[in-house]
Amino acid sequence: MSAQDTRRRIPRTDHLLALPAALRAEQSLGGQRVREVVRGVQERARRGEIPPEAVVEEVTAALAASRPASMRPVLNATGVIVHTNLGRAPLSPAARRAVADAAGYADVEFDLAAGVRSRRGAGARAALLRSCPAVLPSGEELDALVVNNGAAALLLAATALAGDGEVILSRGEMIEIGAGFRLPDLIASAGARIREVGATNRTHLADYRAAITERTGALLSIHPSNYRITGFTASVPHAELAELAHAHALPLIADLGSGLLAPEPSLPQEPDARTALEAGADLVITSGDKLLGGPQAGILLGRAGVIDALARHPLARAVRADKLALAALEATLVGPVPPVLSSLRAEASQLRRRTEQLAARIDGSGVPARVVPHDGRVGGGGGAEVPLPGWAVAVPGSLAAPLRRGAPAVVGTLREGSCLLDLRCVPPAQEDVLLAAVLAAADGTSA
Ligand SMILES: *Cc1c(COP(=O)(O)O)cnc(C)c1O
Repeated sequence: MSAQDTRRRIPRTDHLLALPAALRAEQSLGGQRVREVVRGVQERARRGEIPPEAVVEEVTAALAASRPASMRPVLNATGVIVHTNLGRAPLSPAARRAVADAAGYADVEFDLAAGVRSRRGAGARAALLRSCPAVLPSGEELDALVVNNGAAALLLAATALAGDGEVILSRGEMIEIGAGFRLPDLIASAGARIREVGATNRTHLADYRAAITERTGALLSIHPSNYRITGFTASVPHAELAELAHAHALPLIADLGSGLLAPEPSLPQEPDARTALEAGADLVITSGDKLLGGPQAGILLGRAGVIDALARHPLARAVRADKLALAALEATLVGPVPPVLSSLRAEASQLRRRTEQLAARIDGSGVPARVVPHDGRVGGGGGAEVPLPGWAVAVPGSLAAPLRRGAPAVVGTLREGSCLLDLRCVPPAQEDVLLAAVLAAADGTSA
């Protein structure tokens, strides 16, 4: 049969769009998406990849597997907990439910009992204050503000507190947070000037003291969250910086990055908001979607007077937190342990048992698999250079690409010709899904 004959037998677009499955999908996915799927299947039939008789069945299957947006869920088998390329923190079931509740009309800024306008983000603010019960040395009350992300929080703090004055920052803390974004540039873009002090490896209190002039607007401490300086080093603790700042009636801003509100025993080196505030920082900045394990958000905790000044600054409106983020943040704080912390605290012995069981199931199904040592990582947001000892299932490297293209997509690590699947960030309830994905990927490569 000629190629032309085959083409003629491919069902027409109007016929396919009238299929019950297509009409149903139009309600859930929208007409544009349905037409894309239909055209894609017709194209495959024209290329001879599927016979014309299979087009209706393929369209039905493709529509059933389609999602309303292009972003697809991923099983993170890299062992990197806060993986920026994979969306940083996965939300807890409680946070997902809160997002769904807030997705429609919701009482975001409305007091339903009294029928009047209310304060936006009041629930998230209360949850933050409960999760970080810091007692400020100044005796002032603690308050909190949530903005779009950590970078926005830093921008707002520098702009509102330093204006076009100088912000004093150690040369060892002039960090780039990723994809070419440098925090000093961010601050400078708002009009404040960075006054660098000290050396890359060592900065002393005297360096800060010598740099203070009438142009100084604030002292800034930034946690080097993604690298570590070791060897002959020195930095100034928050308590000493705070004392110096306050002696000159200046605020100390501490950008911690990671999002820990209280000390985390599994990461003893990581700074936390409560400790920094109790050491005298006037304002602490952290991210919502790093070790806190919640949605993208910038969290500002500090003296009530300082938070009030930030909330009233015009820029606050430009960096306002989304209602979905506010809902997810509150649910993360008051709800069950979020996935990020479960992954961080995963016991090595339990990880080993899970890894051995999965490897045996994969191997027993005819796909070569063995257990190898593999360190996890905290990833973007803290614990730089801290290895998290664990294990991985090593399967043939040829499975890496089909695993990434599967549904759900599975992302592992390629090492010495093997694809390593680390279970640290894979919830136990997803192990069957991971097994099925590996077998499907192996099926596809052998076919
Ligand atoms: C990650 C990070 C930021 C930026 O926070 P985002 O929430 O990613 O905008 C700022 N400062 C430090 C120290 C960080 O680690």
